[in-house]
Amino acid sequence: MKPVTVIGAGLAGSEAAWQLVKQGVPVRLVEMRPKKQTPAHHTPHYAELVCTNSLRSNDWAHAVGILKEEMRRMDSLILDCADRHAVPAGGALAVDREGFSGSVTERLQNHPLVEVVEDELTEIPEGITVVATGPLTSESLSEKISQLTGEDHLYFYDAAAPIIERDSIDMEKAFVASRYDKGEAAYINCPMTDEEFDHFYEALITAETTPLKTFEKEIYFEGCMPIEVMARRGKETILYGPMKPVGLVDPRKGQRSRAVVQLRQDDGAGSLYNLVGFQTHLKWGEQKRILRMIPGLENAEIVRYGVMHRNTFINSPRALHPTYQFKNREDLFFAGQMTGVEGYVESAAAGLIAGMNAARYALGKELLIFPGETTLGSLARYITTANPDNFQPMNANFGLFPRLPRKIKDKRERNRQYGERALETLHQFAKESVLARG
Ligand code: FAD
Repeated sequence: MKPVTVIGAGLAGSEAAWQLVKQGVPVRLVEMRPKKQTPAHHTPHYAELVCTNSLRSNDWAHAVGILKEEMRRMDSLILDCADRHAVPAGGALAVDREGFSGSVTERLQNHPLVEVVEDELTEIPEGITVVATGPLTSESLSEKISQLTGEDHLYFYDAAAPIIERDSIDMEKAFVASRYDKGEAAYINCPMTDEEFDHFYEALITAETTPLKTFEKEIYFEGCMPIEVMARRGKETILYGPMKPVGLVDPRKGQRSRAVVQLRQDDGAGSLYNLVGFQTHLKWGEQKRILRMIPGLENAEIVRYGVMHRNTFINSPRALHPTYQFKNREDLFFAGQMTGVEGYVESAAAGLIAGMNAARYALGKELLIFPGETTLGSLARYITTANPDNFQPMNANFGLFPRLPRKIKDKRERNRQYGERALETLHQFAKESVLARG
């Protein structure tokens, strides 16, 4: 059998390669490091963690905890190596980074079905291929990917506004309307009085930001300004910009407010909303504090914080099937951060499905679409069905799951039930698809 090419041995590529060889499919694993490093990687190891050594919570109270459990049950290489090299971190899974990436490298390099190629690929090869070159994909390959997807469908940075759960918005304070009542009432609007705005403004311009890395500075010059930077230019700048109140009459007061924060639907199900124009570089704790000062968002559940960083990703809602297969070339798969998932574990999760499906494609088997009730499936569904005109990367979160049959007020209990349903669904799915270990 011809080997499947996996480009990039990061979190996603390593997992994809593992899922391929597990099914007996040979792999040509092409990694440019250490010959050529990215601006964030420093070692020759596969699955290098470029920042924190934490893979976030292990607890089912967090969607990423459920995702990790699903991956363990699907025999994930990344999770196995992470568990073996865990260091004490309370409820989180943190790892000895050297031990972790060293063992991923060893397991793959010593595998009889893996052929290792230490080189930068500058073309997408023919034959079955998984592209997993990550947020810092080398320039020449990025160019080729953009030719394939269409220039407008490859992004080089991520300037995202926070996304929150619809159910956590206080609709006694917010109202639904479109500016000047044009079209159907599409936005959730949070109006502010003079006093509320002045208070919010002061907090916004004095909040702490995350320092930009040198290779991220270019983002500002692309005309995408963080809300806090815009605010520091003066109150009028945001009152004529993202917090513009014109054309929005609060139906309860029958008049215009001093300022309005607008939220736009983010997912097909309408359970997630993003804050329009609120791309930000504030520290996460600060984002929570400041967003909760907005009337109606006092109890906002933030499922994805605003970020501004270098990130190469494709417009997956246009380009991919939920199998991670490219729509315009059926033997091509994408995986990892490149597909618009966000985070170490999510990247590996995308690699798991892409690798599994690339193997099934090679073996002439039907490709798998994971159910939306699982974290693996909910992420795949989100990135392939989100609004393509406003597509921003996403991490695992409860807002992506289909609602439970009945409303549960207690958050911990609700999350536990999401977790139980996810694992039960995965179990059934795996049994039917003959996937799991045992
Ligand atoms: P990577 O792990 O980056 O793997 C891609 C691999 O492809 C690399 O090894 C690279 O060398 C190789 N490659 C690139 N181009 C080519 C080519 N042309 N030919 C051959 N090989 C190539 N997520 C978190 O959860 N927590 C964090 O703290 C965190 N911090 C981050 C910090 C930075 C600076 C960045 C950029 C991202 C961060 N992320 C973080 C987001 C994301 O989780 C990681 O980037 C993650 O490593 C993505 O996994 P991946 O497999 O998609 O890409």
